[in-house]
Amino acid sequence: MNFFNYINGEWVPSINGETFQNLNPANNTDVIGNFPQSTAEDIDKAVKAASKAMKQWKNIPAPKRGDIIRKAGDIFARRQQELAEIMTREMGKTITETRGDIQEAIDTCYYGATEARRLFGYTAPSELTNKMNLSIRTPIGVCGIITAWNFPIAVPSWKIIPALICGNTVVLKPSEESPHSANIFAEILEEAGLPKGVFNVVHGASVAGSALVEHPEVKVVGFTGSTATGKKIAGRCGELNKKCSLEMGGKNVQIVLEDANMELAIDGVLWGAFGTTGQRCTATSRLILQDTIYDDFINKLLTRATKLIVGPGNDNNTNVGPVINEKQLNKIHEYVRIGREEGALCVLGGDREFKDELGLGTFYKPTIFIDVTPSMRIFKEEIFGPVLSVIKVSTFEEAIEVANDCEYGLSSSIYTKDVNKAIAAVHQLETGISYINAPTIGAEAHMPFGGVKGTGNGHREGGWTAYEIFSEWKTIYIDYSDTLQRAQIDNY
Ligand code: NAD
Repeated sequence: MNFFNYINGEWVPSINGETFQNLNPANNTDVIGNFPQSTAEDIDKAVKAASKAMKQWKNIPAPKRGDIIRKAGDIFARRQQELAEIMTREMGKTITETRGDIQEAIDTCYYGATEARRLFGYTAPSELTNKMNLSIRTPIGVCGIITAWNFPIAVPSWKIIPALICGNTVVLKPSEESPHSANIFAEILEEAGLPKGVFNVVHGASVAGSALVEHPEVKVVGFTGSTATGKKIAGRCGELNKKCSLEMGGKNVQIVLEDANMELAIDGVLWGAFGTTGQRCTATSRLILQDTIYDDFINKLLTRATKLIVGPGNDNNTNVGPVINEKQLNKIHEYVRIGREEGALCVLGGDREFKDELGLGTFYKPTIFIDVTPSMRIFKEEIFGPVLSVIKVSTFEEAIEVANDCEYGLSSSIYTKDVNKAIAAVHQLETGISYINAPTIGAEAHMPFGGVKGTGNGHREGGWTAYEIFSEWKTIYIDYSDTLQRAQIDNY
């Protein structure tokens, strides 16, 4: 089956006719289809359409834009199951999780529709008499959105919806690993009544992504992906003086203190480490245990983790789906080799060999390393797979120090019943998101989302903060004194 780009409300092939194939990670003999391998020419066409559409879109009152987005939320809800099945087929996670991915877009649409009636500015007193000061939000221009494959609908929605609500137009370059979902996004916005050219999808890989960053009419770049790619994009945006919001890698940590509810903490780490096959930016990849509970916790964790069922995401019994592709499978296996070489003890998994039909997909067994030390690469670097590294500490202070010894800073969690330690931890942990007695995953659409250190560049998606990224402040002074009043001079 052939799929197309969506430019100016039309479904079109790439100008040079090149395509790439997308496969089901649970079964590589299942070809989902051919998608346009776009280049700078396709990007140019889409950006020009978005630029043109901006003139009409920015003049539609924001609450009316919100009405269209609310309708899109309704259509996402109507198509949730169908889209969940498409998403599971192209990126592997279980249907329960892909339904959750789409739910996040529904929530983002409904929240966005209400935000469209706020988009609050500030009024402030003037220092001069008979003068007033206001500030309002204005749209910026064409937004170039580049996204990863692990949340094919939720993550694009975090950027696209606020960008549209603010009166901007959008060109999306989705991940080449989850392109089908992006086309459904376009279908839904079209059915909701979005005018032609306001939202465009251009498929392809880094060539298309970097052409989007470079295009002079793209004024804002919203990126989700690896820290290596994000830093490259940030560098170019710096040179080109473009606004740029980055959501990048993570190496998230769960701390369990000796007074914690142990079963709850095990529930949390199993979900955090092996949900989405460990392929969430917020996945738990480091577990810090207090020494007094270390052996007991690991024994109980292993008893539970051994029971996790690896399989295709569309099988209701599956807990852990495939990893995205062969390249990622090799990367995970290489990290497991490194972990063993570094002297950590692999007590579960560490194996990519599957027989029968699972041999047709890219599956990796849930893997746990114990006796890990803070200097080991498996404790420091993002693996992005079902691999958990466990470390032992003796005090709360040591737990915080080890947790913060990390180049990333997205999500952290602490399990304890000691309210003093819990509150101290959330202030001391160097992450954009912290949970108390809950796993490192579980963000909600109406709250700020993002990380510090190597994970982000100071912006926050989600909630009201996403609207900061996609709007520009305009300050307005209204002088109704009928005289020339010189600020800083006539009033002092
Ligand atoms: P990636 O960096 O390889 O690719 C991300 C996107 O960038 C893709 O669409 C890709 O085609 C595009 N791209 C690649 N090179 C480019 C270039 N030079 N210029 C412009 N675009 C380019 O990342 P991935 O493997 O798709 O995703 C996994 C990573 O994403 C992990 O590091 C994960 O932690 C991160 N992630 C972060 C968040 C977050 O919110 N912090 C959410 C999801 C995923």
